[in-house]
Amino acid sequence: MTKSMTVTAARLAAVRLALEGANRQYDRATQLMAVGKTFGPEALLEVAQAGQRIFGENYAQEGCDKVDWFALHHPELEIEWHFIGPLQANKTRPVAERFDWVDSIDRMRIAKRLNDQRPQEKGPLNVLIEVNIDDEQSKSGIRPEELPAFARELASLANLRVRGLMAIPAPAETAAAQKVPLKALRSLFDAHKEAFGWDTLSMGMSADMVCAVECGSTLVRVGSAIFGARDYSKKWLLGSNG
Ligand SMILES: *Cc1c(COP(=O)(O)O)cnc(C)c1O
Repeated sequence: MTKSMTVTAARLAAVRLALEGANRQYDRATQLMAVGKTFGPEALLEVAQAGQRIFGENYAQEGCDKVDWFALHHPELEIEWHFIGPLQANKTRPVAERFDWVDSIDRMRIAKRLNDQRPQEKGPLNVLIEVNIDDEQSKSGIRPEELPAFARELASLANLRVRGLMAIPAPAETAAAQKVPLKALRSLFDAHKEAFGWDTLSMGMSADMVCAVECGSTLVRVGSAIFGARDYSKKWLLGSNG
């Protein structure tokens, strides 16, 4: 085992401990997603072999290559793959064919393509609606006032199963400030979850994981706290360095 793999295992253990502590403190059952963007499959494999099952990927090509790598080399690990990044129309097909979830749905055109391209034998694709909860500059996510109409339209797509909401609040200076958008998202989720049958609220990353659990997240997305700092010049692609 290389030294860096040992470090990854230690970081994962620390994240799990912190999440278990927060779940106990706030009486929650928040699950952990490991976000592996820019890291190669061997780093993800170590985390998967330590029992982690839910993985998130941001880039279509890189993510699809990793799904294929695991399907080929470690089908026994039965990973649940979430696509969590922006998705362009020309990349929907490989994502619809491979991923279990797409957590960044904010455009009907993309949702319809995923619905049309989802292979029947895989069953419905789970999706989350991405909400732009606090950052009017950001291009990702629908605005809260658009949510009910958007959710109703999505519910008509038979090959998609809408499970809830996702957001990426802007980083804040203090825990109190960080909780403002997290609580706003939770309120939006609570206001609509029964009508739409939602069960998943994905919020919280490395820096705000515990705040997010306190505010009611059901699924935190943790990258750097598990895998270390990202080097975007080393984006992992099959064939180039795999
Ligand atoms: C990269 C990313 C994460 C993980 O971020 P960290 O700060 O490294 O934990 C979570 N969610 C999304 C949507 C991301 O793009």
